[in-house]
Amino acid sequence: MRTETFAIDMPVRFRGISRREGMLVEGPAGWAEFSPFLDYEPAECVPWLAAALDSAGHEWPVAVRDRVPVNCTVPAVGPEQAAEIVRRSGCSTAKVKVAERGQTLAEDIARVEAVRDALGASGHVRVDANGGWDVDVAVSSIAQLLRAAAGLEYVEQPCASVEDLAAVRRRVDVPIAADESIRRADDPLRVVALDAADIAVLKVQPLGGVHACLRIAEQIGLPVVVSSAVDTSIGLAAGLALAAALPELPHACGLATTSLLSGDVVTQPLKPVDGWLPVGRQTLDDGAFAQVAADPETDARWQARLARVRELSA
Ligand SMILES: [Mg+2]
Repeated sequence: MRTETFAIDMPVRFRGISRREGMLVEGPAGWAEFSPFLDYEPAECVPWLAAALDSAGHEWPVAVRDRVPVNCTVPAVGPEQAAEIVRRSGCSTAKVKVAERGQTLAEDIARVEAVRDALGASGHVRVDANGGWDVDVAVSSIAQLLRAAAGLEYVEQPCASVEDLAAVRRRVDVPIAADESIRRADDPLRVVALDAADIAVLKVQPLGGVHACLRIAEQIGLPVVVSSAVDTSIGLAAGLALAAALPELPHACGLATTSLLSGDVVTQPLKPVDGWLPVGRQTLDDGAFAQVAADPETDARWQARLARVRELSA
């Protein structure tokens, strides 16, 4: 199986990183991505490898749509830059990072107000706290953000634990989406058992692949938002395949994330047009890849990581 390692700079720091590394693997069905974050232990990378092998080795499920509505992603930047990201994206839904470590609620409010102004009244604003609040802070912060945004589509992962998510959900009047509570949990279905969420965020790589996610979606029985793990266009194509196969898709998906990367590995990177991305396989382009190929040391580190995760997967 051909494998390649990439290292792509990120224009804005996101999720605490400013360079995205990973591998691309080619199998009988096409190219796939294996890019667990560097801080993940080998055991946590097992589903990421399963996802890559699923996409590289098997056809994706039957698609019921050929394009997918997507949101733009606004990192924890200042209000002017936030508005610029929204305007440039052409998307009518924006996901705004809030509760960033080292920042204040006032900064979140300013960012969310700027995003609402840029989107207009008909757009959708959702916020993602990445588990950064406790229950009381979540409840009061959500109330203020709700006013600043003149309505929120949903709040993603306000608190870290499923129990806290459920507690917040009982106290606020806005839908709650679970992300980390599904993809980093031993049991993704606990959010359902505890009535902790209205919406499930599913990511193909950490949840073991397109087919595994489709099964989780069926079991969880909640509306699904498919999101990326800041993938290249090859990884994003797997997310789009999942979104395309879901019977219902009531919300825009978080797959318009190539803007978080300064390069890509395909001929035509997946940039949204009027808020939509096309469904279909993406193939590694040698010319594009040459611009983002990892140095030999990084490649060796990833080959070793892949071998270790393979061992654990066997
Ligand atoms: Mg999230």
